[in-house]
Amino acid sequence: MKCRVCGKTARIKLHSHHTAFCREHFLQFFYRRIERTIKKFRMFRRDELVLVAVSGGKDSLALWHALMELGYKVKGFFINLHIKPGSGESEEYVRRFAEKFGADLTVVDVKDYLGFSIPEAVKVVRKPACAVCGMVKRYIMNRHALQIGATAIATGHQLDDAAATLLGNILHWQEGHLGRFYPVLEEEDGFARKVKPLTFTGEYETLAYAHFVGIEYYPKKCRFAHGATSQVYKHILNELEMEMPGTKLWFVEGFFRTAREKFRAEEPAAPREKCVFCGYPTTRREMIDGEEKPVCSFCALKRRLQKHEGE
Ligand code: SF4
Ligand code: ZN
Ligand code: ZN
Repeated sequence: MKCRVCGKTARIKLHSHHTAFCREHFLQFFYRRIERTIKKFRMFRRDELVLVAVSGGKDSLALWHALMELGYKVKGFFINLHIKPGSGESEEYVRRFAEKFGADLTVVDVKDYLGFSIPEAVKVVRKPACAVCGMVKRYIMNRHALQIGATAIATGHQLDDAAATLLGNILHWQEGHLGRFYPVLEEEDGFARKVKPLTFTGEYETLAYAHFVGIEYYPKKCRFAHGATSQVYKHILNELEMEMPGTKLWFVEGFFRTAREKFRAEEPAAPREKCVFCGYPTTRREMIDGEEKPVCSFCALKRRLQKHEGE
């Protein structure tokens, strides 16, 4: 098997692209795809500060590394969620990465913001763990991005994640979600821009990239991810990909090109007010001392946990 570009022995075969590359030309292919995604969707410029949300897994570390290689101004951001096992080990991997590659990293503790760990919060509110955790992470990341003047928050969601999310949203005809499903979520007053530069890069490619450049990552999944429906969709998509290489890519690309516009909301978004506790923009309201006031989901959760602890 030969590299498509230089004809030397290939080190990696990409079935979905019907091609093979040596190490050097795979890296070139990998960087070009990310760069093209960033430019096409106007994710960020080279003079903007980008906060990369890192979990210790291969995707977010590969993204962080690639953005540094491409010369973007990036800072890594890790939140210790106190999920056991995993959070402590992930933090070690992230710290080791920063040391090895001379990367700029900030580590924070969810308890310093919320006062509780994610498992403690999940036990009290009895909602799906990922719904609680996702909201808390978004809040903390956004606050930090605004504090340090980062204009965008980049996450390591890759093509396999995108295809699974899209499939789930289509199966349930979640029109609102389909309308918002996009590699960029523009900034608004009080919210940093959210971007996913790996949207067209497959999980297999990020895995190969991590190996080629020497990234060590936490290899296990979060215990709350097991049994999630997204895993079922990923499994089905992998079966399809085996039979028809390239399926995930044309599924996701095709949606953006042909169908997304049809789901975009016509009506303006509900007006946002400032949360009375933290100033975060929110559309949520709740009764406080007999009066209805704006309270963001994060502060509502924090108050509920504090109340539960006091009972
Ligand atoms: Fe949080 Fe769910 Fe991700 Fe675990 S899998 S870190 S609970 S969002
Ligand atoms: Zn080559
Ligand atoms: Zn708030």
